[in-house]
Amino acid sequence: MSTIHTLGFPRIGPKRELKFACESYWRGDTTEDELENTAKTLRQQNWQRQLDAGIDWLPVGDFSLYDHVLDTSFLVGHLPKRFHKLKESSEIERYFAVARGFQNKADEHEDHSIAAGEMTKWFDTNYHYIVPEFDAGETFKLNPKRLLQQVAEARKLSAKIKPVILGPLSYLWLGKSVNEQGNKLELLPALLPIYQELISLLANEGVQWLQIDEPVLVLDLPQNWLNAFESSYHRLQSKSIQVLLATYFGPLQNNLNLLNSLPVAGIHLDAIRGREDLNKILDILPPHKILSVGVVDGRNIWANDLNKTLGLLKKIQEKLGDRLWLAPSCSLLHVPVDLNAELKLDEDLQQWLAFAQQKLEELNILKQALSKTDASVEAFLKKNQKQIDSRTLSNKIHNPTVKQAVEKIDSAYSQRKSEFIARAEIQQSKYKLPVLPTTTIGSFPQTQEIRATRKQYKTGEINSEEYKRRIETEIQRAVYEQEKLNLDVLVHGEAERNDMVEYFGEQLQGYAFTQYGWVQSYGSRCVKPPIIYGDVCRPNSMTVDWTRYAQSLSTKPVKGMLTGPITMLQWAFVRDDQTREITAKQIALALREEVLELEKAGINFIQVDEPALREGLPLRKNDWQHYLNWAVEAFKISTCAVADSTQIHTHMCYAEFNDIIQAIAALDADVITIETSRSNMELLKAFEDFKYPNGIGPGVYDIHSPNVPAIEHIENLLKKAGQKIPLKQLWVNPDCGLKTRNWEEVIKGLGNMMKATEKLRAEFSA
Ligand code: GLN
Ligand code: ZN
Repeated sequence: MSTIHTLGFPRIGPKRELKFACESYWRGDTTEDELENTAKTLRQQNWQRQLDAGIDWLPVGDFSLYDHVLDTSFLVGHLPKRFHKLKESSEIERYFAVARGFQNKADEHEDHSIAAGEMTKWFDTNYHYIVPEFDAGETFKLNPKRLLQQVAEARKLSAKIKPVILGPLSYLWLGKSVNEQGNKLELLPALLPIYQELISLLANEGVQWLQIDEPVLVLDLPQNWLNAFESSYHRLQSKSIQVLLATYFGPLQNNLNLLNSLPVAGIHLDAIRGREDLNKILDILPPHKILSVGVVDGRNIWANDLNKTLGLLKKIQEKLGDRLWLAPSCSLLHVPVDLNAELKLDEDLQQWLAFAQQKLEELNILKQALSKTDASVEAFLKKNQKQIDSRTLSNKIHNPTVKQAVEKIDSAYSQRKSEFIARAEIQQSKYKLPVLPTTTIGSFPQTQEIRATRKQYKTGEINSEEYKRRIETEIQRAVYEQEKLNLDVLVHGEAERNDMVEYFGEQLQGYAFTQYGWVQSYGSRCVKPPIIYGDVCRPNSMTVDWTRYAQSLSTKPVKGMLTGPITMLQWAFVRDDQTREITAKQIALALREEVLELEKAGINFIQVDEPALREGLPLRKNDWQHYLNWAVEAFKISTCAVADSTQIHTHMCYAEFNDIIQAIAALDADVITIETSRSNMELLKAFEDFKYPNGIGPGVYDIHSPNVPAIEHIENLLKKAGQKIPLKQLWVNPDCGLKTRNWEEVIKGLGNMMKATEKLRAEFSA
């Protein structure tokens, strides 16, 4: 009999119970005990679900109140130095202080506030973890209370429990050194004894299996880190506990032999993203080791093709017998909880999907089918086959016109008519913009009224005429304020958009939206990614009416505003039956039509936002160029059909752009607006070194802060930018959209931005 297990289960709860419990605790509406009780209930429900689905080994310690990397920091007794002054606070207060920052309200005279721990993306997922901050000579101290408590809780439900911890090397790799020379690997000798101590504690508790996650093994690692794996896992060897070393999110490639050689009882491989490793490992796996194969996709929401998976597993089982374990490819953290909560999905689509709960059931069927095939298993497999076939053949998915259109794409699709220099001249003579032209990134404040209007329209409380009237009133307001501020290139303000992906996805064919398909993004924040299930096309124009209306209100140019193909892809669950490249190009073609229609409607400036461009980068450097090539091509397919006189803008924010500057230049947008004010224009160095040729608007107004930037502050930023970028290339704009700010702040902030710009214009022309 093969064994089934999971690497982790979603923590937020089917209705985001954890989010609401945390937020209520943070507001002070509920006590710590109440929060812990909710957490405990959620854990029990998660375990019960897994028991009911026949999961053999329950994961323990995968649950977290905020983030599992932060939990690891607390487990090994690491608190960044900045927080040491909170010694008097309780553990949970310190925990949330690192997670969310500490505000000191009591003392009016001195500011004791501490900024939150930095947050960054967990590998290439949309989950964000709190980055450990290491000092040289950092010490650690085991703090196992929380984990042991959960072990005890799980014990009441099952004898077979499997604690889950983040391994020492991944933990160090994912942290950052706060001092320059810091070599994080030097902390390993201090950290390993903590892990040893924990292992013997767990052994005393009777724990038989311990899952240690070392996902960094799928990355390009320096040799000294690879060497450290060997020595570390030799030290962590224990007679009384069996270690399952888990990797996920990609193939191990050159690290496979290393993983295979480590002295552990079992290894877990991601057989979805790392399928190529599977054959290799079967040839070399030592005869005593178990192999856990992640055959159910933990990163996506498609139902498993069980018969196909069984075919693969049967071959492995012949070799491994009972040493074969089955699991999702990674923790189920990255998928929504339960498909059965969805009541409004298309009937067919519903059959093609599997959320966390359904993935447990898939594992169960696979297990049963591997040991014996009784009638009920047989029936389940048949039904699954029908569902898979219906997905393969459905005309809801396959649109021949779209497929042909993608096949027709040639290099001309991603070529503007003339080079940038020629376009810039044509555009300048047509629009006569001043030096340092001013603009915004698109959205204006999303007020309560706007949200209410959209909601009322969605629920049918107001009809489309009333809705149109109200949105137009908002557009009038946005245009009026921008004219009063004397901005050069206006926007309509995006009042009709709840979200920059959802707005377009709802109007495109091939996209679907769930009611409860929430996935944790960070802490209590969840996102509900749309599902791209079929060939994408655009039945109707999506933004043209609103933009045209805005343009009718002003003699100044109004910039049309679209979300780019890569961002549309990156923030969704994407179909797995064709390459992401093809899906991106389908979206790009739909956007291309929209761009052309905007142009035809007299819109001469069009911005295509790509904030997620960098997020799509593969984990291994070797794969970067291929991705960047098609990503850039998709953007250009969307934007390159326009006349030379139409000015294409793009926008990016909140990411490191240095190492993809070449690709950013290859987008060949006439203007890029980019977030920089937080890094104090440091980011521009990359653009300077690269001699970035096109227009560039470094953000001078940090839109994440309610603070109104002072005129001198903006002036200084612009001067700094002016030292790095030739004046004639520079634009002036905020860091990002203004939707989270209120009108009062925005009017003041943009007012100061305009005053700073005018001062500099006067200086430069003198
Ligand atoms: N145009 C969008 C806005 O202004 C851009 C948002 C983003 O970059 N995330 O809100
Ligand atoms: Zn932005």
